[in-house]
Amino acid sequence: MDLLNEFKPISGIATTRETAKTLQPLCQNIGATLWLPESLNSLEEGQFYKSDLKTHLAKIWKENKALIFCLAAGAVVRLISPLLADKKIDPAVIVIDPKGKFVISLCGGHIGGGDRLTKIVANLIGATPIITGIANSLNLPGIDVLGFPFGWKRGQGDWNRVAAVIAKLKTVQVVQEVGSTLWQENLPAKHPFYFGFVEDNKISISPQARVWISFTKRRFSPDSDLPKVQWHPRVLWVGIGCERGTSKQLIKQAIETVFDRNHLATEAIAGIATIDIKADELGILELSRDWQLPIITFTAAELAKIEVPTPSKVVSQEVGTPSVAEAAAILAAKNPLLVSKQIFKQEGEKGAVTVAIAVAEKEYLDRKGSLSLVGIGPGSLDQITPAAKTAITTADVVVGYSLYLDLVSSLFYPGQIIESSNITQERDRACRAIELAQWGLNVAVISSGDCGIYGMAGLVLEECRSQNWDGNNPKVEVFPGITAMQAAASRVGTPLMHDFCAISLSDLLTPWPVIAKRLEAAAIADFVTALYNPRSLKRTEQIKIARDTFLKHRDPNTPVAIVRSAYRLDEQIYLTTLEEMLEVPIDMLSTVIIGNSSTRNYANLMITPRGYFNVES
Ligand code: SAH
Repeated sequence: MDLLNEFKPISGIATTRETAKTLQPLCQNIGATLWLPESLNSLEEGQFYKSDLKTHLAKIWKENKALIFCLAAGAVVRLISPLLADKKIDPAVIVIDPKGKFVISLCGGHIGGGDRLTKIVANLIGATPIITGIANSLNLPGIDVLGFPFGWKRGQGDWNRVAAVIAKLKTVQVVQEVGSTLWQENLPAKHPFYFGFVEDNKISISPQARVWISFTKRRFSPDSDLPKVQWHPRVLWVGIGCERGTSKQLIKQAIETVFDRNHLATEAIAGIATIDIKADELGILELSRDWQLPIITFTAAELAKIEVPTPSKVVSQEVGTPSVAEAAAILAAKNPLLVSKQIFKQEGEKGAVTVAIAVAEKEYLDRKGSLSLVGIGPGSLDQITPAAKTAITTADVVVGYSLYLDLVSSLFYPGQIIESSNITQERDRACRAIELAQWGLNVAVISSGDCGIYGMAGLVLEECRSQNWDGNNPKVEVFPGITAMQAAASRVGTPLMHDFCAISLSDLLTPWPVIAKRLEAAAIADFVTALYNPRSLKRTEQIKIARDTFLKHRDPNTPVAIVRSAYRLDEQIYLTTLEEMLEVPIDMLSTVIIGNSSTRNYANLMITPRGYFNVES
């Protein structure tokens, strides 16, 4: 399952046949290695460890991002305790009971992603997730993972003390100078964060902790009464110019010196910007690899167009633009300079470096985004596929109409970005989802029923096409769901047993003559017909025309089912006939199913025979 890539490699560990059986399907589904003792070699499928489990765990501990045990929690605690080093690097450890009823997030819940993985696994196997962290119970994102979706880097700070203040819901001042504020918009009603400047405020606020979100590197005194942490969104573009053959060491030193002098955090670097002829400059390439930074290059002509504070004639004669570092930083950041050109040389060292810095409006996100187009089924959560649930639980952002978001809200995790919109803003919603995915977020767009049947999936793909999408970035995956027609049919028996079709009566996006023609054709062809969007407050005539069209070609006693809000709390089911169907309340929450010439009612069910033979008339 690609959706779980961020947690991979994952290993499952079981020690008995029963627990192996609990883990086997899960491991297969999510692409995890299942480790079993050698004694089960001839009996079960998996990988087998020959040593004792403790020794084996020591071997696989560092190479896994997550470990899933099906073993007594106490035994797991004893086994892993000598291996635990630091929550910044330890893998996520989760424990499942032998019957697969509970999934416990044991260790590495925040930075290791264990809490989220626990929820995902619980959804996949139909178990109850047990997450004991306080932030989770307060529905707050962990302060130590807050910036992960946006690619921010953690700076220096007293993370444990700040987390403790948050857990007590005492006031925490947040000073956010740069970076996405989406996280602020998705906090629960009750949260401890205060977003103003204390000095500016007339009301007296006495924060118990402070969170800085900026590109500045602040040095906190460890003895300060006020615990503080800092996150660094990656907004700084470092423009670099250098002589041929300048070493990585010198470039690194130059950047570090400039950053130090200006109190800037190197964690906030988005990337390196330079001239295209430096794309093969070894020192720059090596540094970008070491620091995992992208390199953006521009042509001399592009750079020459930019007005800069410190142009150079010499550079202009050499490479055809009066500025490399400054112009490249400005172009990459699409903003003026924060730090103008600094020239750096070192006695005895070959080469010279120029460094300039500009701040981008939006932070750089070091990953490819994705779009999951998810059908959530008709209503209740047990009518949604496990894959669709996983797509929702692994998404950074869930976008959808508020009624549908409410239906799946139990799948959300604290801090997840939820963007609800009005049902009439479908196209805006599609554009917003694409924009977020292009930036690098994993976005789930949800539709009721099947997202590819009168749903959001088509709109999103249409919009991608009109934006000349390359088919890969963002990656798009469609997750099917049970459509209203199937849901309604299942509540009244087997009306769809033979050839059928679906027709939407909404003429908002389709001209009415097209709909009228299809109604006629379906009626003539004796298709069982499901009518979507049958009647709204404003559109009241279409359902009458549809009924009359069918009456021209089908018996007035043809069974008709009208199912409203299938699988929701306010579900209503009516079995009627073509002649009398308009006496039943029909609205936009209803699906109408008109039987074919051999459909019959029996025992409060609507049955369409599998074939046309042996039908009594
Ligand atoms: N993508 C959805 C359809 C959206 S069009 C799907 O595949 O089901 C909206 C129409 O679907 C509604 O007007 C109604 O006709 C039908 N519908 C959606 N959910 C329904 C439900 N739970 N019960 C009955 N009809 C439903």
